Amino acid sequence: IYILAIESSCDETAAAVVKNGRDVISSIISSQIDIHKLYGGVVPEIASRKHIERVNQVIKEAMKEANMEFEDLDAIGVTYGPGLVGALLVGVSVAKAIAFAAKKPLVGVHHIEGHISAAYIENKELEPPFISLVVSGGHTNIVKVLDYGKYEILASTRDDACGEAFDKVARVIDLGYPGGPKIDALAKVGNPYAIDFPKASVKDSPMDFSFSGLKTAVINYVNTCKMKHKTFVDADLAASFQKSVVDVLTEKTLKALKDHDMKVLSMAGGVASNMGLRQSITNMCEENDIKLYIPSPILCTDNAAMIGAAAYYDFINGKRDGWDLNAVPNLSF
Ligand code: ATP
Ligand code: MG
Ligand code: FE
Repeated sequence: IYILAIESSCDETAAAVVKNGRDVISSIISSQIDIHKLYGGVVPEIASRKHIERVNQVIKEAMKEANMEFEDLDAIGVTYGPGLVGALLVGVSVAKAIAFAAKKPLVGVHHIEGHISAAYIENKELEPPFISLVVSGGHTNIVKVLDYGKYEILASTRDDACGEAFDKVARVIDLGYPGGPKIDALAKVGNPYAIDFPKASVKDSPMDFSFSGLKTAVINYVNTCKMKHKTFVDADLAASFQKSVVDVLTEKTLKALKDHDMKVLSMAGGVASNMGLRQSITNMCEENDIKLYIPSPILCTDNAAMIGAAAYYDFINGKRDGWDLNAVPNLSF
């Protein structure tokens, strides 16, 4: 089964051809970061316009690299939510047009199911059930993958998402957008014990995350230093903030594995490419005899190959969408 997958939920225009949900035949990602960083974050109107400008070329390249024509495909998969409504609409409209013209089935894909499914691509033996730690720009969840397309949410954030916290803290110390990779790089050379930030968790609720208190603590720390004309080392702040996030994610993931008697873990979403988090989760898994699957960084951030992986399992489970498929910006799990 060959699926052409299209992703345009945020600021990456991406297309991929994926065989049987696991083999990436081609994958093209056109990032808009260079444009949005001028504004310190994603500007939705600009994102929509850039997707329109680029989507046809990105699809053309994916088909060319796969050496295939639309008639060789078995289905078209597309992210229909959650994400920015105008951005999603571009992918959904193009996917519908191709599916209609080439007389191919259309499969709408949940963006976060895509992130989770990224782990199938490099790990052919990975099959449900397993636990997935989902850490992205808009989501922070510990998910039990019961079966393909079947999920149980074990933990969520009460406020900001994990990637959002990285981006906001980066802005406070003028690192620019997107902040996650920059905090990651700085943290490598900083002292994680320099500043004692609060934990990103909720009192009396062992399975919930909260990042807004931690974010506020970082902002307060920086403002207090400025007021008192005290200096601080950016790298120490980055390392201390990152440690606070990583410790809580690692702790709660271990608890979820133990509570559900699971021995297999995967990671998903942009923050899963964070080196500090990867190291901490790897150590935890070694100590607790857990089999760990972490996708390569390029499969953690937004891409269409992961959408092709998720679309395949939806497709073989019989999911089909009609010409009324619409973008659903706040699509829930
Ligand atoms: P969602 O998937 O929830 O809809 P999104 O698609 O915007 O949100 P992703 O593309 O999965 O999110 O990830 C982007 C986020 O990952 C950004 O917040 C970015 O700062 C963060 N990120 C990327 N690389 C790293 C890193 N090395 N360390 C920490 N955070 C990172
Ligand atoms: Mg992005
Ligand atoms: Fe994403």
